[in-house]
Amino acid sequence: MKLTRAKRPSSAFTTVDFDRTGRQIGHIMFPHSPNDDAWGVTRVPVAVVANGKGPTVIMEGGNHGDEYEGPIVIGELARDLDPAELQGRLILMPSNNIHAVMGAQRTSTVDGLNFNRTFPGDPLGTITQQISAYMTDHIFPMGDAFLDLHSGGSSLDFIPSAAIEPTDDPALAARNFAAARAFDAPCTVIIGNLGDPRTATATACRAGLVTVGSELGGGGRVNAAALSVARRGVRNVLAHFGVIASSKASSINADRPIYELKGTPAYVYATAEGIFEPFHELGSEVRAGQAAGLIHRVWEPSIVPEQLSYAADGIVYARRQPGRVRPGNCCLAVATPQ
Ligand code: CA
Repeated sequence: MKLTRAKRPSSAFTTVDFDRTGRQIGHIMFPHSPNDDAWGVTRVPVAVVANGKGPTVIMEGGNHGDEYEGPIVIGELARDLDPAELQGRLILMPSNNIHAVMGAQRTSTVDGLNFNRTFPGDPLGTITQQISAYMTDHIFPMGDAFLDLHSGGSSLDFIPSAAIEPTDDPALAARNFAAARAFDAPCTVIIGNLGDPRTATATACRAGLVTVGSELGGGGRVNAAALSVARRGVRNVLAHFGVIASSKASSINADRPIYELKGTPAYVYATAEGIFEPFHELGSEVRAGQAAGLIHRVWEPSIVPEQLSYAADGIVYARRQPGRVRPGNCCLAVATPQ
């Protein structure tokens, strides 16, 4: 069942008509009046590709500005998909936190906000809050399904994976599970962000959309293997929803294991300032209590390195990219088989 809410007024306007058949590539324009531009706009790119009758699938990239596989693949779909191939509508948003994308950084260069911690947003707030409010009030109500393509960004590197968004609604949970499986990444992981309700995916679920996430590589670079996982995955999910013919997708390996980030023990946080030496590569099998790495205080050789340990059984799913750490930095995440 879809949540209906009164739309909060937004000063944003669009250069596309969401109800028109065919292909349009344009912008959602948010009036923005910084120091050097009294009457300007922030332009968030959007493409609408629509034909016939079928579900509306919303695809987001650039939620964080230093995660590149999603924006690349969504841009390709916007340019290359033949509307005649579709039954339904795609709303393609490759670079949603546009200021973060232009700055190639996680958070907005304008207001410093992490877009994915601003939902449901505020139409009278800062630019990032206005964009998330527009997603909540105007984009999600048009959708049946939502794909949010993330990667690890500058600070983490991941096993390329599809992410299952948890929800209290058992019927939606089953549909999220099936759609994430259809993505057919090497690894599929239930990621609840420790229950944070301020993410795009949590908000899409509350609006009743079937929701799929991803974590595709990372390290602030484009990962070629992750890019091919993403190119194949988005088409598989579109075929799963019936928007493109299954002949345009690849066959799916239903036997791949499902993992979960099980609460706070999944994460290994830095306990000291220093240089983190990880002991294991991505995909290594590890046990709770096992040594995970050392933090070296290289500027003070008399100090014995601090040892970090895993708190969960599973595989090393994510690993911090920069060696330099401060207390509280996420060094590792362990995904536990279901
Ligand atoms: Ca991300």
